Amino acid sequence: MITVEQLYEKLKPIRVGSPLCEFTLEHCQKIHPVIARIEELKQKENAIILAHNYVAPEILYGVADHTGDSYGLAKIARDSDAEVIVFPAVRFMAETAKILNPHKTVIDPNPDGGCSLADGISAIDVRRLRKQFPDHTFVCYINTTAEVKALCDVCVTSSNVYHIVETIDNDNIYFLPDKLMAMNVIQYLQDRGIKKNISWYDGTCYVHEEYGPDAIDFIRTGNPNVDVLVHPECQPAVVEKADYVGSTTSMLNHVRESSGDTFFLLTECGLTGILQSEFPEKRFVGSCTMCKYMKANSLQDVLQALENPRPDQIIELSPEVRQNALRCVERMFEYAEKTSS
Ligand code: SF4
Repeated sequence: MITVEQLYEKLKPIRVGSPLCEFTLEHCQKIHPVIARIEELKQKENAIILAHNYVAPEILYGVADHTGDSYGLAKIARDSDAEVIVFPAVRFMAETAKILNPHKTVIDPNPDGGCSLADGISAIDVRRLRKQFPDHTFVCYINTTAEVKALCDVCVTSSNVYHIVETIDNDNIYFLPDKLMAMNVIQYLQDRGIKKNISWYDGTCYVHEEYGPDAIDFIRTGNPNVDVLVHPECQPAVVEKADYVGSTTSMLNHVRESSGDTFFLLTECGLTGILQSEFPEKRFVGSCTMCKYMKANSLQDVLQALENPRPDQIIELSPEVRQNALRCVERMFEYAEKTSS
């Protein structure tokens, strides 16, 4: 278990302009008993905690067994031997863990935590669209509910979307729910001379759609050597100006491997916090935006959910939805493995 001093060392470099991220030694001392109790329960219940890169730093550094992006965490959930998976993130991620682990208990500490993408499309919408586009392969971003995944052909994440759409053996594709990601994929394919007929749904991530290209121009004016890293949920005009486009984990790896010293990240604040902690010698300029859904998870929620989970915190899926959603998610793993080989 992490000590108070180790926790403070990890948290003190994090400064992303929010009281949530202003950590003191006293704060670490105060939360440490909660961390100790969570660790005790993890042992007792044979539980692991999977935390997305965007959740609160106390969770990432205090109790998480694994941190990462949607794709990495889905793989860890698939391969885990734990009996209980606690998933502080957003609902669709915990549902994906349950799709992959029907016999394990999967707990979502913050069941009201939505996502503007996942909440923007329902199974009814997908049934209607499938009638409207009968010849299309339906590709869903992982930021969708299990019911929506169950009606789609293949799932993608920000770490494999470009490669999977490129590889699909059908020129007619319906991409949902993120219209900005769809536009970025179209541009990516066009740049490589690949023609596909891609239609898309009208969803967006409320965090990433906020960024505009002017922010990059402004930051570059004062920091001519800045390395600009962008998430593919951003607008195409933002992606076009980026030095690097990728998932949160690939951005983290990019910073790790880069010889540069100044970075501007256009994604949720959690990633900037991790990078400030891991690479205190590097500079992270510009602003970031917090996802209210991811940040709604707290250490206390994790403790309560492990100690005495409420029915609404335990993920349950009907066998039919789970099996159809599993087919969709497994096709993602097959495509991702095919494209990376
Ligand atoms: S950052 Fe955007 S895509 Fe991610 S959980 Fe929040 S609203 Fe959803």
